[in-house]
Amino acid sequence: MAAARHIDAKPRFFYQSTAELGIHPRRHAKFALAHPVTAFSLRLPGSDNLQLNLARLARSGDQGERIMSIEIRPYWKNYIGGKWVDSSDGQRIDIINPGNGQKICEVARGTGADIDKAVAAARSCFKARVLQDMAPHERGALLFRIADELEKAADEIAEVECLDNGKTLEKGRAELPLTQRYLRYYAGLADKLEGRQIPIGTDLLDYTTHEPYGVSAQIVPWNGPLPVGARSIACAIATANTVVLKSPEDSPLSLFLLAEACERAGVPDGAVNIVCGLGYEAGAALVAHDDIDHIVFTGSVETGKSVLRAAAERVIPCVMELGGKSGGIVFPDADLDQVAESAAAGIFKHAGQICSAGSRLIVHRSLYDEVVSRLVAKAEALTVGPGIDGAELGPLISARQLDRVEALCQVGIDEGATLCTGGKRVAGLDGYFMAPTVFGDVTPQMRIAQEEFFGPVVVIIPFEDTEEAIEIANGTDFGLAAGLYTNNLSLAHKVAHRLVAGQVYVNQWWAGGIETPFGGMKRSGYGREKGQEALLGYVQTKNIGIKL
Ligand code: NAD
Repeated sequence: MAAARHIDAKPRFFYQSTAELGIHPRRHAKFALAHPVTAFSLRLPGSDNLQLNLARLARSGDQGERIMSIEIRPYWKNYIGGKWVDSSDGQRIDIINPGNGQKICEVARGTGADIDKAVAAARSCFKARVLQDMAPHERGALLFRIADELEKAADEIAEVECLDNGKTLEKGRAELPLTQRYLRYYAGLADKLEGRQIPIGTDLLDYTTHEPYGVSAQIVPWNGPLPVGARSIACAIATANTVVLKSPEDSPLSLFLLAEACERAGVPDGAVNIVCGLGYEAGAALVAHDDIDHIVFTGSVETGKSVLRAAAERVIPCVMELGGKSGGIVFPDADLDQVAESAAAGIFKHAGQICSAGSRLIVHRSLYDEVVSRLVAKAEALTVGPGIDGAELGPLISARQLDRVEALCQVGIDEGATLCTGGKRVAGLDGYFMAPTVFGDVTPQMRIAQEEFFGPVVVIIPFEDTEEAIEIANGTDFGLAAGLYTNNLSLAHKVAHRLVAGQVYVNQWWAGGIETPFGGMKRSGYGREKGQEALLGYVQTKNIGIKL
């Protein structure tokens, strides 16, 4: 009975278990091999026969023990105008688990006609002033409710992030609290976006207001769909825009769970529409739609250019979050333990599939050999495999991406760089696994030092003096992030100012948070997500002058 009460108190930790609750024996068996497992059984009240054999997975962290055994639903529909709908032509997209190459489920394949419906729903909600006529604090309350409702899907989010996206268990579990923090941060800001009163004479009153654009079209990439999608939806709702979001065709599932949370939270019909579809089909239809007012795009530079061309036709403002080739400079006085830890996390987290990954390391010649050997040791110590099985380095998202990363590694070898470790897909695993890779003796103009891998590949470039290091760091088309490692405060300040990047990390890659503005310079894009500044990308200033 005591254990049964525990189930009642924390059902989400336990609601999946043996066959009758949909346990996945193979996965549990695999998982059990990789983790300390305590198997135990309990008797449910009122049932003499029903025994649940719960595999209790001991793990560290602040979320206690939890079971990862939720069955992925076989089919997911799009969320348009407050309704769950099939694709208008009935077609579906197969969703593949990158950890084993197997199909896990299907989702409705949104078409141009579905985008039309979603934009119409968003327009109708905007025209009806549903969000605009809510007090700002009420829009904030709505966002708080979405965050709370999302909690109910905690385990499912972790599982789908591992299975459709290839995240590690740790990262899959971290997506929910991260997403909730975004929602709550912008919930709290909804009633704090203030205009100005401008003094222009005693017989005139002048003030500014922040007006929503209208229908915000949002395109999200596959690598972090839930937090990236939620933060743009949160900014849009806080500022009374309505949203049509095109979720990524490779990993759309967590955004459906966000749509469900919106529905449960009472988000007005049409205020948030989430449509999965192919980029060249639904994505292109959305950004070229006649009735959108604003675009938020996160993805590659090449796709970004085509989005901008479509936006130019209708003179629509855009927030563009594009790729990166971010470099960290290691100065001679750097703490090498800190460098190794931070640089390895900076490139191997999510198998390097993060736009702001630290994909170049620019190292003073005096430390070069030592840094290379430490990075190689870090790479070779990683366990590689499906995240759901507890591995530290998961797969790339697709066979296409694996081919691309491997081919670019071959370019590096052909260019004369030294392949210190990795460079190839991992043999013997069914999924799309790239070995963590370190290239040494890289020169700044090599393609591997200029092009984004979007995989677990770091290139290490030596330098002799500070000017040269800055030139190398700034010497790509990108300007998303940059970093430096030194204990010299004055040097850190001076170099940070010279680096052309939207964010500079000193002594810790990704120093920053949801509160700090994030975005690119040069071809990495413009506009900012995260932080208070992001809200300004979702409003236009109106000046009102009154003759008294
Ligand atoms: P991608 O550009 O191929 O796709 C991004 C999104 O755009 C997807 O939802 C896709 O369906 C859609 N899309 C594709 N073609 C389209 C079209 N013609 N019109 C409209 N939409 C279209 O990028 P990806 O491979 O999904 O993501 C990886 C890239 O995204 C990397 O370059 C990475 O650096 C970048 N990225 C940037 C950030 C950032 O914040 N700066 C964050 C994550 C990823």
